[in-house]
Amino acid sequence: MKIPYLSFEKINADVRSELTPAFEKFIDSKWYILGESVKSFEESYALFNKTRHCIGVANGLDALILSLKALNIGPGDEVIVPSNTYIATWLAVSSIGAKPIPVEPRINTYNINPDLIEEKITAQTKAIIPVHLYGQACEMDAIIHISSKHNLYVVEDNAQSQGASYNGTLTGSFGHINGTSYYPGKNLGAYGDAGAITTNDSDLDKRTRMLRNYGSEKKYYNIEKGMNSRLDELQAALLSIKLQHLNLWNEERKKLANIYDQELKGIPDLILPFTAEKATHVYHIYNVRTSRRNELQEYLNSNEIGTLIHYPVPPHLQNAYTELGYGKGAFPAAEIIAETCLSLPLYPGLSEAEMYEIIKNIKYFFNS
Ligand SMILES: *Cc1c(COP(=O)(O)O)cnc(C)c1O
Repeated sequence: MKIPYLSFEKINADVRSELTPAFEKFIDSKWYILGESVKSFEESYALFNKTRHCIGVANGLDALILSLKALNIGPGDEVIVPSNTYIATWLAVSSIGAKPIPVEPRINTYNINPDLIEEKITAQTKAIIPVHLYGQACEMDAIIHISSKHNLYVVEDNAQSQGASYNGTLTGSFGHINGTSYYPGKNLGAYGDAGAITTNDSDLDKRTRMLRNYGSEKKYYNIEKGMNSRLDELQAALLSIKLQHLNLWNEERKKLANIYDQELKGIPDLILPFTAEKATHVYHIYNVRTSRRNELQEYLNSNEIGTLIHYPVPPHLQNAYTELGYGKGAFPAAEIIAETCLSLPLYPGLSEAEMYEIIKNIKYFFNS
């Protein structure tokens, strides 16, 4: 039985009958940039995320860049980021000329450890970017508390956790301004690149709308130096259809994660995901850890079971960040996660038969 790491088969089947008419309507609309579909998706996503505003942009990285720009963060400023995240979080900070200041995660949740944030705050610190990694909400009460105490902005990186919550409040609605991604493999994925900003602040809403569209409100009148980072009309139309299914798909992800939790518990040298009190997890990624990671990945691969590593090299050890001068050992928690983590297949449509095949193979690997 060949089981890919990710399959869009069921997701596509769930929406296919709605996508085709939407595509035809899009062509016939004869309006392809910043039209009714973007407006309508932004309203729907703001409702979904329980924020006052949503601003559609070209991708998740741009959502973070535009958010930081709108807060006037730039050269000379420092922004606190997790040491273990997808590199986009760091790149957003670097690309506006500010400096990413890494903070280590808790080793059980993999999310930024609030107890380690304050010691990294300096006079230059302007913001904290919590990343709800793999789909689990960060400890937002502690993070918000620290940010108010030190007068810092919070910019959530909500790329992996659409629909997750902390203490009943949705991720992507805590920060002053937040970014998310609709990269195809995310819990809400487009058919190409797409992303969005969410905020409750009308001034930040107005400013990011301008910044994503050449810094203009009125065509050919540029108030400031903006970017071209607009959400496509077509992607917005397709995303609106998929958004209607997101809660059900997230439920299915949770159900599948529960099966892994139940069936894989008790294996020595296999660490399963841990969800913190008050947090929910929408399992963008089902991440396990083992000291025999490479062997396990090879074994599963030889049995036609796809896995991925999120992520094999932490940002501080990437060639792109040699300028910061961090060597091996600088962020041990991020490094140990990178060395031991493995993401198992988990997506809507993964059948129970497929799951038990994966589970059987993992048990066999650890028993022999
Ligand atoms: C996917 C992702 C991004 C970037 O999204 P893109 O749409 O690919 O630019 C940012 N942060 C995290 C944590 C991500 O997983």
